[in-house]
Amino acid sequence: MRLVVDLDGVVWEGEEVLWENVRGLQRLQEAGARLVFVTNNSTLTSEAYAHRLSALGLRIRPEEVVTSGKAAAAWTSRRGVREVMVIGEDGLREELVSVGHELVEEGAEAVVVGLDRRACYERLSRAAGEIRGGALFVLTNRDPTLPSRSRFLAGAGAIAAFLEVSSGRSPDFVAGKPNPWILRTAFGDDALEDLIVVGDRVETDVKLAFNAGARAALVLTGAARMTDEESRRRLERIGVMVVKDLEELAKRLGI
Ligand SMILES: [Mg+2]
Repeated sequence: MRLVVDLDGVVWEGEEVLWENVRGLQRLQEAGARLVFVTNNSTLTSEAYAHRLSALGLRIRPEEVVTSGKAAAAWTSRRGVREVMVIGEDGLREELVSVGHELVEEGAEAVVVGLDRRACYERLSRAAGEIRGGALFVLTNRDPTLPSRSRFLAGAGAIAAFLEVSSGRSPDFVAGKPNPWILRTAFGDDALEDLIVVGDRVETDVKLAFNAGARAALVLTGAARMTDEESRRRLERIGVMVVKDLEELAKRLGI
């Protein structure tokens, strides 16, 4: 059994660890399930996430964590792009540099956009200008928010909207969930059968499962915490396993 597990809203919410889910993942791993973490959050590298997950007692190697930043870098690299302007944080920059891209502030062949918690009007305007001038417009994801229990936080999709409106262009590619491309980045040419996608967002995680022909589990933490009874029933009817936490998921999978 292979599980594709989301991070924000599933393993943690901001600084807070969701231990009921971590315990479920430990149980699944002990029972022999293979875990691969797939996140739309490009602010850290795979390596940094693997380090954080190991500190929680999960056995995870960096290649078992795929961010939307890594998926975006795989796409621009395949397109033969060299010079890239980045709106994003260190995790995204490092993924792009690691595939050989040069980071530039003008004359970019592609503008790659992820969550940037220090985004400023000046650089966003510059990036929109590059896109208007013909650079490829690549998004890591369109998530509207970032799960956090202490305060409201806008997601990468909000920054993307700024660039779409100001450049007058739609993105050429969105690398993260729900695009199955991110699973191709994770599994290469391996078959995508026998996968269960686990996450807290219908528009990204559940949709990814459907797009990839995989099973889906929605966990009612993070963004799904307030899901009402009727929506839960509707999701169950279309084959989604809806669970309150990942200990319950382990039970439902007979573990
Ligand atoms: Mg999530």
